[in-house]
Amino acid sequence: MKKLIAGNWKAYVNTERDADELFSLANSASSSAFDLVLCPPFPYLEEAEKRAKQFAVGAQNISSEKEGAHTGEVTAGVLKDLGVKYAIIGHSERRAEGETDEMVREKMTLALEAGLSPILCVGEHLETRKKGLNAAKDFIQEQLEKDLYKLQTINYKLIIAYEPIWAIGTGVSDKPEDTIVIINFIKEFLKTNGYKREARVLYGGSVNSKNILDFLSHEEIDGALIGRASTNPKEFTAIINAIA
Ligand code: PEP
Repeated sequence: MKKLIAGNWKAYVNTERDADELFSLANSASSSAFDLVLCPPFPYLEEAEKRAKQFAVGAQNISSEKEGAHTGEVTAGVLKDLGVKYAIIGHSERRAEGETDEMVREKMTLALEAGLSPILCVGEHLETRKKGLNAAKDFIQEQLEKDLYKLQTINYKLIIAYEPIWAIGTGVSDKPEDTIVIINFIKEFLKTNGYKREARVLYGGSVNSKNILDFLSHEEIDGALIGRASTNPKEFTAIINAIA
């Protein structure tokens, strides 16, 4: 299975010029070695779709409403209409803003109904991880049970990003050997809970050009969700060269 690299631009890229530079760099990536997805802010999605040759386009979030009187929301239907293929759902930065597991589950349903591939983010807080890997597993299991409740029938390959919250944007990444324990746990959870199609499980949390191969050299880790480093042209180039 090809590794998947998803760049979550968050709110780091704020001009068309900077977005354009990253689109050009992504188009120079060797497409046969890995799958590349860029997730820019909503207003740049249309241009991303026009520019996408060696990458696919993802949204950073979707509305938990299908349509209607919801000012400022961007629905799965709008994204699908623009040609967007992926959507990050349940990112810890959105959960920290009040997104509940029920909303995440609704977003998963709407994304799947619209034909988008959701990248579901799960991961534990530092206090949990300090109690050990078993505590982290319990936390993640609860998220998966709620976020994927009765979604076993989906005819899609799931993408899950294991993103320990304490590793996001901190410069402190997980230890790959611990990541593998959690990723195997997630894969086992899906298998024993009736998700028949093989899922890709990514790691996210302070991945950069120096540590990316420490993660991706393990076959259990199916890719990476990369925030800040994916928005720095030099770092982004070094990352795609390292994997290629
Ligand atoms: C993320 O936003 O999903 C992420 C992992 O961020 P960073 O790479 O900056 O830690």
